[in-house]
Amino acid sequence: MEQRRENIVMFPFMAQGHIIPFLALALKIEQRENYSITFVNTPQNINKLRPSLPPNSSIRLLEIPFCSSDHGLPPDSENTDGLPYHLMIHLLEGSSSLKPSFTKLISTLIDEQNGHPPLCIVADIFLGWTVDVAHQFGIFHALFSGAGGFGLACYHSIWSNLPHRKTDSDEFLLPDFPEAGSLHLTQLTSTMAAANGTDPWSVFQGGNLPKWPSSDGLLFNTVEELDQIGLLYFRQKIGKPIWPIGPILLSIDNRDRAGKEAGITPEFCTQWLNTKPLNSVLYISFGSQNTISAKQMMQLATAVEASGKNFIWVVRPPLGFDINSEFKADEWLPEGFKQRMEDQNRGLLVHRWAPQVKILSHHAISAFLSHCGWNSVLESLSQGVPMIGWAMGAEQFYNVKLLEEKIGVCVEVARGVSFEVRHGDIVEKIELVMNGTEKGKEMRRKACEVREMIRDAVKDEDGFKGSSVTAMDEFLNAALLMRKKKQMGAE
Ligand code: UDP
Repeated sequence: MEQRRENIVMFPFMAQGHIIPFLALALKIEQRENYSITFVNTPQNINKLRPSLPPNSSIRLLEIPFCSSDHGLPPDSENTDGLPYHLMIHLLEGSSSLKPSFTKLISTLIDEQNGHPPLCIVADIFLGWTVDVAHQFGIFHALFSGAGGFGLACYHSIWSNLPHRKTDSDEFLLPDFPEAGSLHLTQLTSTMAAANGTDPWSVFQGGNLPKWPSSDGLLFNTVEELDQIGLLYFRQKIGKPIWPIGPILLSIDNRDRAGKEAGITPEFCTQWLNTKPLNSVLYISFGSQNTISAKQMMQLATAVEASGKNFIWVVRPPLGFDINSEFKADEWLPEGFKQRMEDQNRGLLVHRWAPQVKILSHHAISAFLSHCGWNSVLESLSQGVPMIGWAMGAEQFYNVKLLEEKIGVCVEVARGVSFEVRHGDIVEKIELVMNGTEKGKEMRRKACEVREMIRDAVKDEDGFKGSSVTAMDEFLNAALLMRKKKQMGAE
């Protein structure tokens, strides 16, 4: 008799930055025998996801209804993509209205399987309420964080304590996470800085964060050896197993499928990089959705030119312009910049979207000037590429802090879109990392050490299992054990 596959229900928050790591995790679990995946989201997100699935995937996509206009959102707004930042809180608040439909969906899944419930529900850290649904049906529940341990620990601690509200100083410590070191007001997002405990963001976090310890454990897209301080914070705070299973990243094939409109082909990129010497090119990108201010863009371009380095720069219209509109190099970059760079064959300006993993894996790349979103961090370190950090929001400020102060693979150059960055300072940081200074060499050496650490973590060969493989085994075993105990209890 064919063995029944154990079903894992996955439910990310409605944002590309959350859906993509969940998809990567779903595809990873699907590779193991005996598990099937049901991926849940609102109709628009499911429709967008359908073409991203590899043709041989058996992942089942299920929709639950969502009416955005019931929650102060424009009609048909089911994703943070394209949503102005000030409306994001409405999507977060509105997501808890999905509880009755999600409950119904789980109940239907159980009926379909003649009373056999799914093995586990893996939900987003913003959807803490799903733990109540899971436990109502006696189902194992895990949260999955696409962010790293250290970054999320700072984020969790700030929202739980609002420490900046309890001091007149611009600098402060996190009361339950002093190991993080001192933080500065410029390392807070605008919503954190403005929070007072009664604003909508504080109210949302006040409802969501206390749900986490009720979950049966937390999965992290990170590596144990890289992220111990942050993971320890959660081990102590949540008191449940913490499973660092990363890096969980989409393979190049699946990325293309999930892809945005590329501004350049991977082949052209590789050909261009092939003409450049080892460790001679700076890669610049601010992630999938950010851009910088017009003033900052001028400073950055001036710095890149003055540094004399080769570069690939993913450009988008600056703040205040439609991010998806045409990039006007004549308007937003110094006069003649584009032409001079072309004449000298020094740089590629890539519009909107570049094949990032391919670029980072090329031996010509020397450093990555990055907003330090966690996926970019993992992709860069997986290739041993040191970083120049310019965080934009979310937990990125703390990622930069971890990379610079604790791991030594990054140097910070600016913070956010209001920062008065000067081209001279950017040149200094570029030279520090790329000019073979003692500090630069040390950063590259450490980045290469981290690359090996990551390779070991995901190794599964000749009887050796790396820490991330073991963590994934432990997570699945914990879910199976709970199922077994329930069955024995019922007998
Ligand atoms: N990315 C890419 N090409 C680009 C910009 C981004 O492939 O031009 C990918 C990048 O490789 C990473 C993801 O988009 O996997 C960005 O995720 P991250 O966590 O770094 O930042 P976010 O976009 O969520 O702010």
